Amino acid sequence: MSRKILMDKPLVEIDGDEMARVMWAWVKEKLLYPYIELKTEYYDLHVKRRDETDDKITINAAEAVKRWGVGVKCATITPNAERVKEYNLKKEWRSPNATIREILDGTLFRAPIILRNIIPAVRFWKKPIVVARHAYGDIYSGVGIRFEEPGEAEVIYRSVSGKEIRVKLPALQGPGVLQAYHNLDKSIESFARASFGYALMYKLDLWFATKDTISKVYDARFKEIFNRIYEEEFKEKFQQAGLKYEYYLIDDAYSRAVRSEGGFVWATKNYDGDVISDLVASAFSGSLALMTSELYSPQGYYLAEAAHGTVQRHYYRYLRGEKTSTNPTAIIFAWTRALKERGRRDGLKDLMSFAETLEEAVKITIEDDKIMTQDVARVAEPPVNAVVSTEEFIDAVKKNLDKLLEKKKLLN
Ligand code: NAP
Ligand code: MG
Repeated sequence: MSRKILMDKPLVEIDGDEMARVMWAWVKEKLLYPYIELKTEYYDLHVKRRDETDDKITINAAEAVKRWGVGVKCATITPNAERVKEYNLKKEWRSPNATIREILDGTLFRAPIILRNIIPAVRFWKKPIVVARHAYGDIYSGVGIRFEEPGEAEVIYRSVSGKEIRVKLPALQGPGVLQAYHNLDKSIESFARASFGYALMYKLDLWFATKDTISKVYDARFKEIFNRIYEEEFKEKFQQAGLKYEYYLIDDAYSRAVRSEGGFVWATKNYDGDVISDLVASAFSGSLALMTSELYSPQGYYLAEAAHGTVQRHYYRYLRGEKTSTNPTAIIFAWTRALKERGRRDGLKDLMSFAETLEEAVKITIEDDKIMTQDVARVAEPPVNAVVSTEEFIDAVKKNLDKLLEKKKLLN
């Protein structure tokens, strides 16, 4: 091999914590640096760096994604009380993903990595189901009251200009609980645009589902906005691409999804997405390490990451000097997705082909060579006995990558 693939604009590289950080460095060293003149603008979100910078580094990283358009992120610790002690932190800093999502106004798309020898729990599923989660509002920023006696409750909205709207809840008989939450048209519009845009980019149908028959104001507003954005901005493009937009009631969508063969983007409200993405992930593969997560905003910002966390338990084993069989697949795919997107935007065909080839190399390693980490071996069919360590897995992928690159003469 004689040359390296060149890049034009940089990728924003956001480093993270624990085992994910360890695998991040290995993936770059063995699968990227030897082949690409990798151009990145690097942001270290190690929990100690966030602590030292009072979390400014997270905001800077998000701003960089706005500047360059495309980024790739490693899993990061979201500190809780235990972590504050463990790392001697000033405070429980916010989830970096929440901060970044807010700044980029992004929607999350979670997609399974489909492999021939990992049979989905739902036998009809042949193609991926990508879950798009609206990451704003609803119960996640709701308020609650626990009450002890019979009484009454009212929701009051007061506008800046002094207008008031009041609605009463049914009479409250005795002890109980209540909750109120909200959403914003602008956020729902962004969510709709990101969902339609993503479906169009990946040539997938789009499903959207709520319970508007019961939630006649709240969910109905979601439905209205989706319909309007579709009619005004996407209908023609969808028709040209031979794609469909389907609106269902949420319970109908669940049962249709199970009977479908997959191959669509499922746009979900915040809570539905929280639940459905974990359900779909486990039903597809039984391993979080076979799942990618992409953030896509209507302004065109793009951020790829693995769906799993920092894999703390494995990290402690690694620190004790033990070999771990942690799966780097989703981290590799985070890089390939980001490189592909960088290549697509900058018109770099070789960079895109390289990313495709690296994905292919991972698939050959697991499907044909039957070389896999323990999480995948556990669910593979037929069962596999030989389990490799993370580094052995990466080395096996590298061998396949070299073979494929040679065959395609991509680096000649
Ligand atoms: P996790 O890191 O996803 O790991 C949970 C378990 O899933 C692991 O113990 C392991 O199971 C399995 N697993 C996950 N990724 C794997 C991989 N690549 N290969 C093999 N097995 C894998 O979730 P967590 O333990 O709940 O969270 C740990 C830290 O990650 C937390 O501090 C959390 O804040 C953070 N987190 C970050 C993100 C993000 O940045 N996007 C997302 C989620 C969590 P076994 O131990 O049974 O092998
Ligand atoms: Mg969840």
